[in-house]
Amino acid sequence: MKSQEYMNTWGKDNPKSVCACGHTGDGGNSQHADRFQLGHGVCLVRDCNCQQFTWVEWTDEAKTALELR
Ligand SMILES: [Zn+2]
Ligand SMILES: [Zn+2]
Repeated sequence: MKSQEYMNTWGKDNPKSVCACGHTGDGGNSQHADRFQLGHGVCLVRDCNCQQFTWVEWTDEAKTALELR
């Protein structure tokens, strides 16, 4: 049950999703600021104008854990 274990811990140490701006978000160490939730604030990447994380897809790591590929 690898995916179940991942579900219980993901988002704390690693971003689990990709934002509409193309940068990672939604979790610890994401490229978006921590606001409301980990990685849901403004994008911290230089020259990126993204003001708030907007979910578009899972990260590769999350896809693998969720067996979406
Ligand atoms: Zn963004
Ligand atoms: Zn961005």
